Amino acid sequence: MSFMDEFPGAIAPPPAEAPYYEPVGDEVAVFEAAWRSRLPVLLKGPTGCGKTRFVEHMAWRLGRPLVTVSCHEDLTASDLVGRYLVRGGETTWVDGPLARAVRAGAICYLDEIVEARKDTTVVIHPLADDRRLLPMEKRGELLQAPPEFGLVISYNPGYQSVLKDLKQSTRQRFVALEFDYPPEPLEARIVEREGGVDAETAARLVRFGRMTRNLRGQGLEEGASTRLLVHTARLIAAGIPPRAACRAAVARAVTDDAELVAAVEELAGTVF
Ligand code: ADP
Repeated sequence: MSFMDEFPGAIAPPPAEAPYYEPVGDEVAVFEAAWRSRLPVLLKGPTGCGKTRFVEHMAWRLGRPLVTVSCHEDLTASDLVGRYLVRGGETTWVDGPLARAVRAGAICYLDEIVEARKDTTVVIHPLADDRRLLPMEKRGELLQAPPEFGLVISYNPGYQSVLKDLKQSTRQRFVALEFDYPPEPLEARIVEREGGVDAETAARLVRFGRMTRNLRGQGLEEGASTRLLVHTARLIAAGIPPRAACRAAVARAVTDDAELVAAVEELAGTVF
C-alpha cells in the first residue's frame, strides 16, 4: 500500500462535538488570532503533552476540517503534494494530503516536521509566507491557498540534534507556541477525565509522573508524558492494580534499561 492510499480523497468535516482540551495559557487566543491573520503556527514541546489534541480542538473551534500528517524520515515533498499514478493503464494525478488541505481550506497539521526529508521544507516555505502558495512542480501548477487554510507544524526541541534542528529560515515564518506538561492540578483533571479514574488516583498518578520527569538527564531521555499517565489511568480503570499499571504503561514504556525501569517502579511505590 502506498502512502497515498492511506489518504483517500475525502476530507472529514470537523466533529460535531468539541474535542476535549484544557487550555494552559493564552494558546487558544493566539492560535485563533494567527489563523485569522493567515499566519502559520509552530507548536514546540515534548511528546504527549497535548499538541495534537490542541490542534483538533482548534480546528473544531474554527469550523475547519483537519488534515494531519505524521512526518517520518521517508516522507518526501511528493508524498505531501501529490504525484502521477498509473491506474488501469491511465495516468492520473493524485493530490497529496497537503494539496488536498489547501484546496479544502483545511487546517493542515504536519506533526514532527523535522523528521521529514529536507525537500519538504522547500514546499512549505512559499505556503508559510505572504505568498501562501503551494508549488506543485510536477504538475507545473501553483496552488493559491484560500484564506481559511491554516498551516501548523510541530517540533520537539528535546530531540534536537545538529541534523534534526529546525532551520531559522523555516522557524522564522511561524508564530510559535510553547507546550509543556500542564500544571499539576490541570494535569490531574485531564488524567481523571481522559483516564476514567477518581480524583485521588489521578492526583497520585500526576505526582508520580512529575517524579519520573525529574529523572530526565539521569539516564531517562524523557519522563512520563501526560499521554502515558492517561494510559496508566485507563489500565487502572480496567482493573489492573496501580503499581502494575505504572510498570506497564510508564516504566517499561519510557526505557529499556533494567535499572531505570526499577527506579521508575520504585517511584510508583512511593505514591501507591
Ligand atoms: P502530543 O501531540 O503533544 O504528542 P497529544 O495531544 O496526543 O500529545 O496528547 C496526549 C494525550 O494527553 C491526549 O490524547 C489527551 O488525552 C491528553 N492531554 C494532554 N494535554 C491535554 C489538554 N491540555 N487537554 C486535554 N487533554 C490533554
